[in-house]
Amino acid sequence: MDLNTELVKIDGIGPKFIPKLAKLNIKTVKDLLWHFPFRYDDFSKVIPIAELKPNQPATIQGTVKKIGLRRTFRQKLVLVEAIIVDDTGGVRALWFNQAYLLKILKPGTRANFAGKIIESKKDLYLSNPVYEITSSYGISSASSGPRHTAGLIPVYPETRGVSSKLLRYILKPILTSIPVIADFLPKEILTKNVLPDINSALKKIHFPLRAIDAEIAKKRFAFENLFLLQLNNLKLKSQLAQEKSEIIPADQEFLSKLLAELPFVLTGSQKEVLHEVLSDIQRPRPMNRLLQGDVGSGKTVIAAIAAILAAKNGQQTAILAPTEVLAQQHYRTITKLFKEYFSASGRSPEGREKEIEILTGGSKGKKSLNEKIENGEIKIIIGTHAIIQKTVKFKNLALVIVDEQHRFGVEQRAALLRSEKNSKVLIPHLLSMSATPIPRTLALTIFGDLDLSIINELPAGRKSIITKVVSPSKRSDAYGFIREQILKGRQAFVICPRIEPGTKDEEERKVLTESQQKLLDLKSVKEEFERLSKNIFPDLKIAMLHGKLKNTEKENIMKDFQDKKYDILVSTSVIEVGVDVPNASIMMIEGADRFGLAQLYQFRGRVGRSEHQSYCLLFTDSDSESTQYRLDSLLTAKNGFELAEKDLQLRGPGQFMGKEQTGLPDIAMDALKNIELVKAAKSSAEELLSNDPDFSKNPLLAERFKQFHQNIHLE
Ligand code: ADP
Ligand code: MG
Repeated sequence: MDLNTELVKIDGIGPKFIPKLAKLNIKTVKDLLWHFPFRYDDFSKVIPIAELKPNQPATIQGTVKKIGLRRTFRQKLVLVEAIIVDDTGGVRALWFNQAYLLKILKPGTRANFAGKIIESKKDLYLSNPVYEITSSYGISSASSGPRHTAGLIPVYPETRGVSSKLLRYILKPILTSIPVIADFLPKEILTKNVLPDINSALKKIHFPLRAIDAEIAKKRFAFENLFLLQLNNLKLKSQLAQEKSEIIPADQEFLSKLLAELPFVLTGSQKEVLHEVLSDIQRPRPMNRLLQGDVGSGKTVIAAIAAILAAKNGQQTAILAPTEVLAQQHYRTITKLFKEYFSASGRSPEGREKEIEILTGGSKGKKSLNEKIENGEIKIIIGTHAIIQKTVKFKNLALVIVDEQHRFGVEQRAALLRSEKNSKVLIPHLLSMSATPIPRTLALTIFGDLDLSIINELPAGRKSIITKVVSPSKRSDAYGFIREQILKGRQAFVICPRIEPGTKDEEERKVLTESQQKLLDLKSVKEEFERLSKNIFPDLKIAMLHGKLKNTEKENIMKDFQDKKYDILVSTSVIEVGVDVPNASIMMIEGADRFGLAQLYQFRGRVGRSEHQSYCLLFTDSDSESTQYRLDSLLTAKNGFELAEKDLQLRGPGQFMGKEQTGLPDIAMDALKNIELVKAAKSSAEELLSNDPDFSKNPLLAERFKQFHQNIHLE
């Protein structure tokens, strides 16, 4: 047996489990060993039944006295209910949809039961306990096998038919019989960072004796991923440093004239960032810059100036937006801001209005557009990522501006240059723009190959948005207020945390954990849409938006909302990145405690985009202190970055970016908070690359790195 052995070939794993394991992407021994627990239950203490306390994990040792089936009333779900007794008393145990337990836990069976103690109206009960049948002496019958009920018990991501119990059962023998695995991390690096080698780390992460063992093992796996990430960044950076780009000259006089045309002066922050961008593009090496700034902070202006400088010099710019609606928005913003520059009158010989064009799926005369791009007539082309990548050949693309996509690699840039005429390939400069505030520390780690510019002030004179946390008793007042605003001609967003309504069956709920129950209580978009349109605002026009809709459906709804065909838009968080609806003045957020601060901040940024006073109403049923603290920081924060830093500490990095963007598994994502570990990984990566830049001395690392690199999706 080795890491690549398929589980089908391993004795002791029933064939019926194979397809189920595959659902968790577990097919080989390696997949299984790398399926890590997400927590450990401490069942090390056996507690007499009389001493059970609510909300604690506990192991009891007892005998099954009674066991039987019940069906829940509304949903036809099966509950197994048993009474377990020991010398001190008896307690109810409840399982959900596991009728087969009747055959296993017959009355008289002695077993350990480990689970959480829940307090119901009438008594305490054990919810979904794990059991382990014991001999009559109370010792586990499989003393060498997995232990499910005493000690630190790993709990894994599960799927139907694959419980943590099963995983523990099949993992233990594999872990003890697998031959020694060669570690791709060099010994010096392990020693220097005081990390266990791969073999010991695997044993410790699955079956730790003490909590500290699990910690050390996790640290090792987090480190290896951070290390790979840093290697990747450093390599990308040095690779890019060897590429060449066309210089885009920034003629001072022309620039001053351009700025004077603007109906406003740039903010200090915008000036700084413009300077950074302009010095980049005036070098013959590719710019690789991430421009971050709150919604409305004026990023587009910066991008437009760079594009116009290129156009003036006869070079082309591609501006890529995530959606067609946003592409159109960019087009409008840019042509409006630099009306004088683009308007034919005054500059008619050049006919500059024809130099900027929008290319979307629905564009008419696409063929002639493509021709004009190919012959260089069109200088600034705005479209979605997809279209530009597929069909367009540029004459001399010098600059690529990408909105809301953090990573856009050398490969994609090269792909934009498919023109065969280009024999000596010059890589275009890249400016990535993002309104998602990512904490600086995190951005530098994850996008370490990018340079970072931040706009951290909004243009003067923006009306601040009145933000209020609304208590449940004030809900109807809030609806009254919304109606008033709508009657004045405004529009409102209502954000809900879920799409589908949750189940309400009492019995069903009982076997769920507290946090699962909470999830069920979240407002769903569908329910809220129904409720608002039938009961609260039957006279108003309401639309619903969520991630399960097709892209075109989503865009149509957004467009209709923009065109004021609806008064209220009920939506999930899909609204987050996106469209400008200046007339919307109310952002109402249900279950506000369920969202990250940075995310709430983003939602709020959807309103306050016109001369109308805007409002953000936060609804929450939670009165916990931490919720209060979080929501209060939203009321006081100066900008999104401040909140993002706070959020990183409070809720972790997972909400800022997904696995796809980082190539990092959860275990390493969590570790991104740990600046020291990130730094250690970076310095180890630098050291390794300086000794062995092409990994020729570390073939195992070379292989692992290749895999890692491929895993980072570069769309
Ligand atoms: P972003 O892309 O960062 O969300 P935009 O560039 O679209 O923001 O700018 C939002 C609005 O603010 C636009 O209408 C733009 O014309 C305006 N704007 C940009 N910079 C300034 C400024 N310095 N002063 C006043 N208004 C500005
Ligand atoms: Mg923008």
